[in-house]
Formats: sequence, structure tokens, C-alpha cells
Amino acid sequence: MLRPRNLNPTGSPAQGADDTLRRRAIAAYLGLAIGDALGATVEFMTPNEIRHKFGEHREMVGGGWLKLKPGQVTDDTSMSLALGEAILANGRVDALATARAFDAWMRAKPVDIGNTVRRNLISWRRSGEPEAPPSEHDAGNGAAMRVLPLALATYGHPPEDIVAASRAQAHVTHNNELSDAACETLVAMLHAYFADDPAAAKRHIATLVENRPQYAHDRKRCENPSGYVVDTLHAVFQALAAHNDFEGCLIDVVNRGGDADTTGAIAGMLAGARAGLEAIPPRWLKALDPQVRSQCETQAVALLVRVARRHA
Ligand code: MN
Ligand code: MN
Repeated sequence: MLRPRNLNPTGSPAQGADDTLRRRAIAAYLGLAIGDALGATVEFMTPNEIRHKFGEHREMVGGGWLKLKPGQVTDDTSMSLALGEAILANGRVDALATARAFDAWMRAKPVDIGNTVRRNLISWRRSGEPEAPPSEHDAGNGAAMRVLPLALATYGHPPEDIVAASRAQAHVTHNNELSDAACETLVAMLHAYFADDPAAAKRHIATLVENRPQYAHDRKRCENPSGYVVDTLHAVFQALAAHNDFEGCLIDVVNRGGDADTTGAIAGMLAGARAGLEAIPPRWLKALDPQVRSQCETQAVALLVRVARRHA
């Protein structure tokens, strides 16, 4: 039987390895929210515009085109939290429950929402069919940005179950092969970091590039990444490879501008999982919306408890 590495199935308090996993999981959640809040300030700006206004953008000051409060997050984090709630309420990743959760999230008037997300949630209201039809145009980053709760909920599961769960959540809004490949790679990378195996995470990127050459990212520096998931991951993979530290990775990726809240969110969850809680700058933790911070911490732990129970 497959057991998550480093996870104590009895759930008894803090053996060293358990505590390491717990801290990596929380750091991934906080990294997602911090990257989102940091990047949102410069979303849709070019690197030149950012340089002109901030020199280097490194503080969580809010503002941006959404006129955010300092530390306020956007759809990248709030959709992830909605997905995590649905997983916890259902005990599994379920397409219909996910569609309902995203619909409730959309009705609550989020500060931002992607076009593909809106369009496919509106068709879901009409059809009742939680899986959006396949579309070669729906290769946006909207499904990839919210994989974190699923990665936690499926930690240690058989690979085919992980793929099925990933597609169930992704296809509610993005039924597209490039998006699927991105989601599955990000989940596999998160699992590798949770298991303290960064070399495996690198191999997952190499496999993605092998299977989908669009994802090759070793040539030109990706600036101004768009919402096209391939573009988004170019910027994220480059920043992740260039900086081993959490802070350096996030500052690099958001200063590339473009879809900076989403590159920040994805780089933040990966770099957080890779580096652990100690690596997150206290000034960013302090600046993050306190309610979001506590939701992230609570949800990370709740999902881990679920994983531990399943393997007990
Ligand atoms: Mn956003
Ligand atoms: Mn965005």
C-alpha cells in the first residue's frame, strides 16, 4: 500500500518528519497567498513600468489595477480556498462539489475573475454538467493556479487517482491538454517538495518539457508572462531555478510583470513547499491579510489530517 513519505499515519503529535511536512504544507499555502498579494500590485505592468515606479517591487503594498489593500489577495488564493473547503466537506475531490463551490465563490463577487472561469461557470449553471467541454482555447492558467488543496488531499495516493482528481477539479473551468499537463506537473512537484525531494521536482519539469515541447524554457528570459499557462510556467520555472530562496524567487517572478499575481501565486506555493516555513520573510507574513493567513494555516492542517486518516 502506498503511504505518504514522512507522514505518521496515527496522526500522533509531532514526530520530526511529520512536523517538517506540516510546515512545508503551511508554507505552500502562505506562499500562494503572499505571491498573489505581492504580484497583484504589478499585475499587467511591464518590467519597465515596474522599474520606473518601484525600482524593484519587493513589499506588499496593495494598489495595482484592482486597488487592493496591502496584503489583500485575489482569485488565485480565494478559488484555492474554495476548492479546499469543497474537498474537506466532501472527503474527496468531486467535480460537482467543485463546480458548486466555484459558483458560490463567483456569486460572492470576487475582486477578480478570469474570462474562462466565468464563461464555463455560467455554462455550468445552464447545463448542470460540471465538466466544461474540451477547448483548445482554454489554455489559461486558471486551473493551474488553484491546485494546492488538491496536491495536499492526494499526497501519497496512486498516480492514476491523482491524475483523475486533478482533471476533475481542472475541467470545471479549463478542459485543455496543456492546462492538464501543467496542473499534473505542479501537483507532482508539490508532492516532491513535501517529501523533501527537490531533485524529483526538477525531473517532473523535464518530463513535462519532453512530453510538451511548448514548455521548454531554457532560452529567452520570459518577461511580461501572459495568462497562457505555458507562458506563466515559463516565468515560474525560470525564477524557481534561478533562486533557491523563497524571497528571491518571488521578487524575481513578480518583477517580470504581466500576470504577476498568478506567477507570484504559483511560484509562491512551489517555493514555500520547497523551502518550508522558516524561509518566509516575517515582514510578508505580517503584511498578509490576517483572515487569509489563518484560513491558509487552518486549511493546510485540515487537509493533512484527512490524508493521515485515510492512511491510518
Ligand atoms: Mn488574480
Ligand atoms: Mn492573474
